[in-house]
Amino acid sequence: MRPPVSAYIALGANLGDARATVAAAIQVLDRLPDTRLLRASSLYRTAPWEATGPDFINAVAEVATGLNAPSLLRALQAQELAAGRERPYRNAPRTLDLDLLLYGDARIDSPELTVPHPRLWERAFVLQPLAEIAPQRVPAERLQAVAGQGIERL
Ligand code: ATP
Ligand code: CA
Ligand code: CA
Repeated sequence: MRPPVSAYIALGANLGDARATVAAAIQVLDRLPDTRLLRASSLYRTAPWEATGPDFINAVAEVATGLNAPSLLRALQAQELAAGRERPYRNAPRTLDLDLLLYGDARIDSPELTVPHPRLWERAFVLQPLAEIAPQRVPAERLQAVAGQGIERL
């Protein structure tokens, strides 16, 4: 068996009880096959960004996983579906969104999966919780560059 890889997952929700959904989804990560939850950030609230609907609740979690990256993505997508995720149109409000931000130091560019996540560095709602649990992965100037985006730590 391969040694586990540290992966960072962004969680977001803005439909239903988003706060409860994100908090529960963090715990579900610990029950994915061959996967352990290592760390989770605080919850954050942000106004919709390139999206519509109610405010978002966001967080980032670190897992140690024996799954390869495509399998981890599929497990995350199954978890989204179980939480009632629908995709009526791009950037639609969502009950739960799980994005794979980082998978070890891997660089992946396939039709289904790009790692690091292509919009990671543009988004305060991802960078701020990531910096909370993994400051070594977020250069200060990257955080500075998104400092104008409104985000509230809960
Ligand atoms: P964004 O990607 O801008 O955050 P989104 O999360 O709303 O938008 P989705 O509809 O959830 O987009 O996902 C669209 C597709 O993105 C998925 O079908 C998936 O195959 C692909 N994808 C590529 N790279 C990743 C990644 N690192 N994490 C999650 N999904 C990814
Ligand atoms: Ca997303
Ligand atoms: Ca997504």
